[in-house]
Amino acid sequence: MMHRWMRRAAIGAAAGLAASAPLIAADAAPHANLITSVAVGAVFALGMGRIRGAYAEAAMAGCALGVPLWIFVSCIGLPLLAGVASAFSAEQMRAQFPALMGWALYGCLLGVFTQGLNGLADRWVGTEAEPERAPTGPPKRIVILGGGFAGMTTAVWLENELGGDPSVSVTLVSDQNALLFTPMLAEVAGGSLEPSHISAPLRTSLHQTEFLRGSAEAIDFERRTVTVSAVGGPSGSARELPYDHLVLALGSVSNYFGAANIQKHALDFKTLLDAIRIRNHVIEMFERADRESDPAVRKALVTFVVAGGGFAGVELAGAINDFAHGILADYPAVGVDEIRTALVHSRDRILPELSESLGRYAQERMAARGVEFCLNTRVLDAGEGSVTLSTGEIRSQTLVWTAGTAPSPLLKAVGLPTDKRGAVAVETTMAVPGHPGVWALGDCAALNDGVSGKPCPPTAQFALREGKALSKNILRAVHGKAPVPFHFDSLGSLCVVGHQTACAELTLPFARAKTLRFSGLLAWMMWRGIYVSKLPGLERKARVLLDWTFEIFFPRDIVQTIELK
Ligand SMILES: Cc1cc2nc3c(=O)[nH]c(=O)nc-3n(C[C@H](O)[C@H](O)[C@H](O)COP(=O)(O)OP(=O)(O)OC[C@H]3O[C@@H](n4cnc5c(N)ncnc54)[C@H](O)[C@@H]3O)c2cc1C
Repeated sequence: MMHRWMRRAAIGAAAGLAASAPLIAADAAPHANLITSVAVGAVFALGMGRIRGAYAEAAMAGCALGVPLWIFVSCIGLPLLAGVASAFSAEQMRAQFPALMGWALYGCLLGVFTQGLNGLADRWVGTEAEPERAPTGPPKRIVILGGGFAGMTTAVWLENELGGDPSVSVTLVSDQNALLFTPMLAEVAGGSLEPSHISAPLRTSLHQTEFLRGSAEAIDFERRTVTVSAVGGPSGSARELPYDHLVLALGSVSNYFGAANIQKHALDFKTLLDAIRIRNHVIEMFERADRESDPAVRKALVTFVVAGGGFAGVELAGAINDFAHGILADYPAVGVDEIRTALVHSRDRILPELSESLGRYAQERMAARGVEFCLNTRVLDAGEGSVTLSTGEIRSQTLVWTAGTAPSPLLKAVGLPTDKRGAVAVETTMAVPGHPGVWALGDCAALNDGVSGKPCPPTAQFALREGKALSKNILRAVHGKAPVPFHFDSLGSLCVVGHQTACAELTLPFARAKTLRFSGLLAWMMWRGIYVSKLPGLERKARVLLDWTFEIFFPRDIVQTIELK
């Protein structure tokens, strides 16, 4: 194990050294940048792990990493070392622009060189470790249910660890044929990104995994089979899949807490279709408002209510508000003062996931752009054209629900032990107690951290790490070894609150108690840099970057793409 880490760190350090030229040419502190380049290279190679042959992926990941590195090193670290204030004024940041280019190019080269040197090392000194083969006998069948962050990451890392081992087969079952990159979903609803650009097709992303588009309907734990029905196929086309290891990564669904009227009238905000529907609905409201002569009715048409002040609700309210103002010029009968975006939240401040100061900052910035906040308020009812709050009524045709989620109902239906939210109660290794070979992770699992004992939050950040850890645990189990508890310290949170404004809270891995807080343009650049690097596939990254570029030069598109009933 030690040998593997040392080898990776040495390769990363060498790649960092080789990639440092553009950075040294662009920045005024060559020695400090050289040392940083080597250190970053070593950490990058250790942290990234390795997916064979993924040169473009590694280049994009490294390039996007250049943005936060520029902020930490060129804007904060080096000025502090030189005894001057951090470079955050517009003028100072402009002066640091060449360094930003240097960091981006450095990151790009670092990604490519790390992959290249890994390949050369494989050829000259042998691979890190030959993948262990499963004990002889029929192949072990691993079935993963759910193609979201958790399921997809488990499959990717299993492929990587197995390296084509024929003694283990992996099948991924999902009712969607693509991984949805939810952190960018609000940008689709707000018309900034094309819907398909934030989804990565599962078939093309997975190379040795069998992909089955279908809906898991039942699990027989005695016979160790899953019943999968075809999505949209003829009835009676259900198929039984046998498994030796079953991974439950089914995510969550919207939870209306039994409020039937709200469920009937509200729009969900969970899937790609939800985001497309919201965008089309907003356009529809403007179309109707434009031909409406009654000012009260017109105002109600362009009033948008979002329930839930967590990340999803805040990002969506900001995106709808920006979109509404962005398309206003196309609707001459609608006045700017008629547009109303209201965010309803049951607590006294939004974004409880962030510190109080950042939450307040986000609220102030959104309020300055016209978003109205109904705090300490609950949505009690909804009807045709009205939303009833605990503090009164809002005339509106639009209510979007982000105020509650619950784990996939299938878990309870198959009789698994669940917590009060309905998530499968798992051990710290992600094993489901009392069901050998069954594992659960992501939003559908109630998992406690193996070191701190704290519950792991239902976020993509955790789902990705859980997927990687679970792939190793399953292979340990296949080889008769004990699985190890999951541990991960959150890296922090990022949230976009409106056009070119975000807030971020980052936890320093080497000083766990230390949290850095950013807001405004800087945080927004970090948000874009970090999330585009996480988006799977080079092609998707390029498409999203192009969308963002077009957004700068062209007005928002008001073409309706689906028919609304
Ligand atoms: C709008 C929005 C914004 C978000 N922003 C962030 C963010 O910025 N940062 C962050 O860390 N997290 C964010 N999250 C949370 C993050 O998306 C989830 O924590 C993450 O998706 C959980 O991954 P998962 O794989 O457990 O579930 P999911 O990603 O939901 O995947 C579950 C998969 O299982 C499939 N499935 C469900 N039932 C069945 C069945 N019966 N048969 C077959 N397939 C099935 C689903 O179609 C889906 O593909 C956001 C969530 C939303 C909704």
